Amino acid sequence: MNRKCIQRAAMAIIASVAVLAGVIFAPAGGTASAAYEPEHQIIKIGLYYGADEMEAANLLNYIGSGYTFGYFDAQREFHPVGQTDETAITMIKDWTMYLVDGKYEDERPLANDGSARACEVVGCYHIRLNAEFASAEDAAVVAGEYPDAFPAFHNGVWYVCVGSYTSAADAETALAERGIDGVAMTASSACVTVVATGTTRVLFQFDCGANASLAVMPRPDESGAKPQTWFRNYKYYGAFQYTRLNGGNITVVNVLDMEDYIKGVIPYEMNTLWPLEALKAQAICARTYAAMRFDAHKSYGFDLCRTVCCQSYLGTNAAGEGSDRAVDETAGEYITYNGELCNVFYFSSDGGATENCENVFTQTIPYLRGVYDPYEEYVETGRKNWSFTYTADEITSILQSKGYNCAKIVSVTPTYTAMGNIYSLKFTDANGKNWTFSKYNASSILYSSQYGKYTYSMRFTVKGEGQPDSTMLYANGAGNVLEDIGEVYAIGSSGTMEKIAATGTLSVITGSGVEEVSIIGSGAAITADKYVISGSGWGHNVGMSQFGAKAMAEQGLSYKDILEFYFTGVTVG
Ligand SMILES: [Zn+2]
Repeated sequence: MNRKCIQRAAMAIIASVAVLAGVIFAPAGGTASAAYEPEHQIIKIGLYYGADEMEAANLLNYIGSGYTFGYFDAQREFHPVGQTDETAITMIKDWTMYLVDGKYEDERPLANDGSARACEVVGCYHIRLNAEFASAEDAAVVAGEYPDAFPAFHNGVWYVCVGSYTSAADAETALAERGIDGVAMTASSACVTVVATGTTRVLFQFDCGANASLAVMPRPDESGAKPQTWFRNYKYYGAFQYTRLNGGNITVVNVLDMEDYIKGVIPYEMNTLWPLEALKAQAICARTYAAMRFDAHKSYGFDLCRTVCCQSYLGTNAAGEGSDRAVDETAGEYITYNGELCNVFYFSSDGGATENCENVFTQTIPYLRGVYDPYEEYVETGRKNWSFTYTADEITSILQSKGYNCAKIVSVTPTYTAMGNIYSLKFTDANGKNWTFSKYNASSILYSSQYGKYTYSMRFTVKGEGQPDSTMLYANGAGNVLEDIGEVYAIGSSGTMEKIAATGTLSVITGSGVEEVSIIGSGAAITADKYVISGSGWGHNVGMSQFGAKAMAEQGLSYKDILEFYFTGVTVG
């Protein structure tokens, strides 16, 4: 950037920021439409699957008493086929399962001397009575006539099974000895057996092959409150589904209403003590994100998983009054653009401005446009200003350690977006060879665990240590250099004071009329021994700033204000 040009620009520091204002005040382009209807209101969340499939999975009533057994059909409607009053139950794969120290395992445990440990066993061979029953109740009545019988739902028919033997021969022998009118059998490799936790007492068995999976729905207790169930130290709303994909261990899925699911997501995305309107904005982002990803894990038979792969979800343990209320008060609301569900992005803090999606990732998305953020500065984000210095040797070493075969780096050329965020970094080595990193890579290339120095966001500048800024603005004459260009305000096209960007283009009134100037020397090579990287914010800068949402809420703005500010031209509802 040519300093003279800037100096000239500075003569009229009350500049017209028409270009910037055009971004700030982009008119809402979304058209109002009827509320979005998601593909499913009942959502399936994978809890244990793949390498984490389980041999056995416990449930314990927290709020509620006992369970209804059944299955979900393709429309996700629950069909009951049995029940139990037991409050602690365990679903085990139908296999020879050994009960050891309260746990069910599919291999006989060994003692220290290598011998087989004595333990109780649930066998997968049974005597099935030669009778079909019209209902779960009828089967339960007959099962009650035996000390070791249980109702079984096999391929859509109610049966009663007696005994649990570890081999077909044992079941045949028992059949003969007990004089029962039945047949020795074992179910398919899809079968799941329910036992009373910590015992070998079978309560129910479900085997519909690949056509349906066992689902367990907790029953409400006399309080009528919405049931919650313990599963591996976490409490969950809704039902659980157990599937043995390919006949192996059990894939455990939580099946619940979308709104109850979102209550288990918000606490992992935002502090539940934050202002209600910020939590509401987060709730709608999480709901919209979930609805966009219904097919994320289709091959496992559920919609989203519980990890950051989709979005973190761990039931109700961490839910707070504020986060629950935020979900309830925005129930069924989604973010759409021209009637289509939005691909929402959010991150911790923008440090002053968000960025156009295509300048960080790849796609141009009409509602993911950069906005200048006047709110964030009013809250403590924890990453307001960060700065570190790399020597030329350190930069060389970082590039080499990341696989780039460079000689000593002798210059760095940054370019910035119109929003003043980093766009690209070009490194030139002593042999004159160049390596250029753009968009998200422009930030990540300088992220170094080797040196413990981190580029936290897309909002940073690179300068040579001790070198003057390539940009200077002067206030009221050439003698007064504005050192912090980030604190310059101008009167925008709307007639209000607006903060101008530290970089980008600016329309100014000069002696010859309105001209556009670049503020920073975007594209000028910097040659230095040390490079100072100074930034603000934390995250990828695309979409909603969570700290910005907090700040807006604290200033009395609504969740719609927040979402419409960070997502250009969208409809919330
Ligand atoms: Zn996932």
